[in-house]
Amino acid sequence: MNIILLGPPGAGKGTQAKKLEDKYGLKQLSTGDMLRAEIAAGTDLGVQAKQIIDRGDLVSDDIIIGMISSRTEQDDCQNGVIFDGFPRTVAQAEALENMLSDKGQRIDAVIELKVDEEALVGRLENRIAEMKAAGQEVRSDDNAETLRHRLATFREQTAPIIPFFADKDMLRTVDGMQAIDAVEAAIDAVIDEAKTVS
Ligand code: AMP
Repeated sequence: MNIILLGPPGAGKGTQAKKLEDKYGLKQLSTGDMLRAEIAAGTDLGVQAKQIIDRGDLVSDDIIIGMISSRTEQDDCQNGVIFDGFPRTVAQAEALENMLSDKGQRIDAVIELKVDEEALVGRLENRIAEMKAAGQEVRSDDNAETLRHRLATFREQTAPIIPFFADKDMLRTVDGMQAIDAVEAAIDAVIDEAKTVS
């Protein structure tokens, strides 16, 4: 089973993806985490990506598609994947569909976490304050100014994949402003429905 979690930065995709990983035996693939690993390892890709990420822009489709395509070949992805933060453009969505269909697989559910953008900025500011108070490292693109740019990037470049999947009747929307447990229950219901279809 392959699931896409879709939503603006800070919508809770990562939190929910981790829960799904354990429950359904799927592998969470976060392109953001993969890029941060490249940065930490100091690779050429990481050096290029850091500037783009710190601005809140998108890394090129070619790089992202290449990265996902080789990662999904690995053994731990064979049970299925929860895509977190990917696809972020219609070109990435089309590439993913082709990639999966070449393997005789498909996207089983696209789950949009719908959230209020203004509330996201508030949530992020709280999270940063909490992390700083706990002495934890804060991501270099986690600040209110970059978040606003990331939200604009989402509206302009990522939001078009919502009608792309809705037109194929693959999109299911969950209210991401609910408590974490309620969001989780709503996602479970979507996955149960997808299971009965397959
Ligand atoms: P995230 O951790 O998903 O919020 O991603 C952090 C940053 O990594 C984004 O703001 C982008 O700059 C970059 N990034 C992550 N995933 C993608 C993607 N699928 N396409 C393009 N850029 C991405």
